[in-house]
Amino acid sequence: MSRYNIALLPGDGIGPEVTAEAVKVLREVEKQYPALQFDYESFDAGAARYLKTGVTMPEETFEHCKAADAILMGAIGLFEARHPDGREVNGDVIFRLRFDLDLYAGVRPVKLYEGVSGPLRDTSKGLDYVVVRENIEGLYASRTGGCNVRGEVATDTIIITKTGTTKIVDYAFKLASRRNGRPIDGKSMVTCVDKANVLSSYAYFRKIYDEVACNYPEINKDYAYVDAMAFYQVASPQNFDVLVAENMFADILSDLSSATIGGLGLAPSADVGDHHGMFQPSHGSAPTIAGQKIANPLATILSAGMMLDWLGERNNDQNALHASKMVDEAVAKVLREGQVRTGDLGGKSSTSEVGDAVVTALQQILR
Ligand code: ATP
Repeated sequence: MSRYNIALLPGDGIGPEVTAEAVKVLREVEKQYPALQFDYESFDAGAARYLKTGVTMPEETFEHCKAADAILMGAIGLFEARHPDGREVNGDVIFRLRFDLDLYAGVRPVKLYEGVSGPLRDTSKGLDYVVVRENIEGLYASRTGGCNVRGEVATDTIIITKTGTTKIVDYAFKLASRRNGRPIDGKSMVTCVDKANVLSSYAYFRKIYDEVACNYPEINKDYAYVDAMAFYQVASPQNFDVLVAENMFADILSDLSSATIGGLGLAPSADVGDHHGMFQPSHGSAPTIAGQKIANPLATILSAGMMLDWLGERNNDQNALHASKMVDEAVAKVLREGQVRTGDLGGKSSTSEVGDAVVTALQQILR
């Protein structure tokens, strides 16, 4: 019997709506796997809270997140919620948790489900890879420390460390060893995405990649410059299995990748480290559609599925590992059948109808 404490941060805009659907699916998981149980505690953190109280996330909430077995987040941020220097307040939650809980790996699966039409002309050769983003260093490590001299010269410095690069590349290779390889031929491969031809920081990233790769002789090495990678993601995505890149590069490439699989409503993500994990959809709070019951909850449901996988791996919990696969299959079934889908995917269903459809699919698959 396993019991996990889940800290819920529903957040702003559509965050609470999509989080409710993910919890609905997790409650069905509990019914289907009686030996797998969750205790949920929900916390008010985010931009709306900042606007009301001046505090985005109380210290106590951070401590609860730290103590939890996993964090499930909706979306944090509203355009108008900013610090006096102009920075959006989402960083008070997202960066705080990423940096202070050492969630060094940003994991974004990029998978085109059957029944979803993306913008690419020909996806018949398959589209199923993962972007692994170094989450706490790179150029964004300078986020509060850049220089601005006399308001006329501004600099930010990229930080690439041996420890950080080793950890993220190692994570990428371990992930590749759990996957089925790239769609085109099943070859397991980790592609190092950088700009090693121009900047010494990226050449160093590549050097560490080479050192780590020696520990995984069964997995193919591969390199791409980031500009070429943007091209390949559109022209030949079937050639990729796992991509690993510095923080800013992977941030940009992962948004490009979500466009290729049917949009942000289908793009899940995980921020994980050796001791903590946070799971959230790739999209933001989408305030323009909040409260209308039209947000697509599938990215958040798939993120909850990633949470099950992570808990399963960490705790050698076969129920959680199995449930993770079943959540993915249930989402795949709903998309394949195509009757229930939100407006972003061309349907007319509400957020909760999509959540209900995933629950029903889960029941049917596990019957
Ligand atoms: P942020 O700056 O936090 O990324 P944003 O509003 O710029 O916020 P998103 O919140 O990700 O970006 O949303 C951009 C647009 O994508 C939204 O206006 C909405 O139309 C669409 N969108 C995002 N998420 C969803 C979703 N789950 N379901 C349907 N549409 C969505």
